Amino acid sequence: MTADVIDGKAFAADVRARVAEQVTRLKADHGITPGLAVVLVGEDPASQVYVRSKGKQTIEAGMASFEHKLPADTPEGELLELVEALNKDPQVHGILVQLPLPDHVDADKVINAIAPAKDVDGFHVSNVGLLGTGQKAMVPCTPLGSLMLLRDRLGSLSGLNAVVIGRSNIVGKPMAQLLLQDSCTVTVAHSRTRDLADVVRRADIVVAAVGRPEMVKGEWIKPGATVIDVGINRVPAPDKGEGKTRLVGDCDYASCAEVAGAITPVPGGVGPMTIACLLANTLTACCRANGLEAPQDLTA
Ligand code: NDP
Repeated sequence: MTADVIDGKAFAADVRARVAEQVTRLKADHGITPGLAVVLVGEDPASQVYVRSKGKQTIEAGMASFEHKLPADTPEGELLELVEALNKDPQVHGILVQLPLPDHVDADKVINAIAPAKDVDGFHVSNVGLLGTGQKAMVPCTPLGSLMLLRDRLGSLSGLNAVVIGRSNIVGKPMAQLLLQDSCTVTVAHSRTRDLADVVRRADIVVAAVGRPEMVKGEWIKPGATVIDVGINRVPAPDKGEGKTRLVGDCDYASCAEVAGAITPVPGGVGPMTIACLLANTLTACCRANGLEAPQDLTA
């Protein structure tokens, strides 16, 4: 079997176009422009790339983008003051603090200082609680984008066996919650899981969010399963020239694609969905802040 390739890039472009359409309508009908503030502390090269890309796509969707770049040694108190100012700013409907933060900053404290209604990353403890109890929450963008790809591919997920590899607060745990809400039977695997290959082999849906290049092998995959590779790992690519690198996922794409029914590529799978969902969440936050109905179908 050769797996179908799940084209996250095209899917994300469609979501962004629908967001942009709603933004145009919001401006025309209500004179409101959704605004997203992104805070970057320090010079981490990967974070800089993400933030640049987020800013560009925010503007392309017709929204206002506010970037706050702070030096790596910014005291925690100063960061908290900035978050407080953004909480109060009526032009800002979504706030995203780019992770990781420098070691001297308590990331939980900063994330929990964001007004939950503006927490478009869905990391605030209130949104985590709302999601966990099946209430209306801001849902973390990467798991939400992954879920959208799964629903698009499979329709109903009810009754399917899903294995999520990874239990981080930003990907693994919320992904498991979303799959459970869609009535999957969910197993969450992690670094202490025994016989991981056997666990994965039982899954109709595999979501890999590990951060280990090409760890999941084709022989672990149940024939026909749907594989969502969240991993983004930069590895040396001597074939491209000295010092060159390339991006790979947490799944060994070549061998997994021989067995799976469908698989997301890296790049071009889950990655583009993350920013598309961020824009959708910002639009939702803006609508709610203005007492308007948020468009449901954008992240259905
Ligand atoms: P974390 O490092 O926070 O979590 C990794 C998880 O993988 C942990 O739960 C860890 O287990 C588990 N793990 C590590 N080694 C193994 C192993 N050998 N076997 C089984 N489980 C293991 O990573 P994130 O969740 O933040 O990110 C995961 C990946 O997703 C990374 O590659 C990251 O770059 C990518 N990512 C991609 C995004 C996108 O937009 N596409 C967005 C966010 C992340 P334990 O808890 O026991 O330590």
